[in-house]
Amino acid sequence: MSETPYVPESAMAIVAHPDDIEFGTAGTAAAWVQAGCRMVYVLCTSGEVGIAEKDMTKEQAMAIREREQRAAAAEVGVTEVVFLREPDGMLENTMELRKRLVREIRKHRPEVVLTGDPTVVWVNEGYINHPDHRAASGAAIDAVFPAAGQPHLFEELAAEGLRAHKVRKVFVRGPGSNHSDQVVDISPVFDRKIAALRQHVSQLGDWDPEPMLREWAAKAAEDQPFELGEGWRVVSLVSDEDWEKLKGERW
Ligand SMILES: [Zn+2]
Repeated sequence: MSETPYVPESAMAIVAHPDDIEFGTAGTAAAWVQAGCRMVYVLCTSGEVGIAEKDMTKEQAMAIREREQRAAAAEVGVTEVVFLREPDGMLENTMELRKRLVREIRKHRPEVVLTGDPTVVWVNEGYINHPDHRAASGAAIDAVFPAAGQPHLFEELAAEGLRAHKVRKVFVRGPGSNHSDQVVDISPVFDRKIAALRQHVSQLGDWDPEPMLREWAAKAAEDQPFELGEGWRVVSLVSDEDWEKLKGERW
């Protein structure tokens, strides 16, 4: 099993909050960036209600969380981080959010979009998926298909010099999504993923996330020839043949 793993030329992770990427996606981001992929993070909110300290304003919390997110991105070599600053805790999959995500997709033209699974409401008996996570991933998927690729949808974006763009593949992750058909080997970059997560000091407190994340990564790689992984449901929207044909028009 020494098949060369798939690495896109460019990718965009779309999530709700600072730290969402670090829990489930940063290993894949680290591995891909190391292999030459251009990676962009898009954060729908800046997680400003995620710091429950009495004397802190939401503006102060936002600044802290954005700083932590940029530092986390830097740990895995990602320098482009976009904050849409939608209200944390109140995110909704609206047409306006879809348009804002289409704008980012048309601007950055990613080959792959990585996001969460909007159908996950609960996991086992101890976890309810945050409504912002469901809204962000639902909006991401709706922006990818078919909206971003339709020139006559959100045509006003053309005035910003943005052309329609077809995303080649969507990578959808859990939490709790028990269907994964592609596992990315994160063994060589696992320490980068942990270092990235540790940048979210305001969220972790004294908690050491390493054992739990190692357990998740080992479980994801159970049937694989490597030790640690991140599992994805991969939806291919453009065939390999068509992708080659689109090459000239893509960028
Ligand atoms: Zn979150």
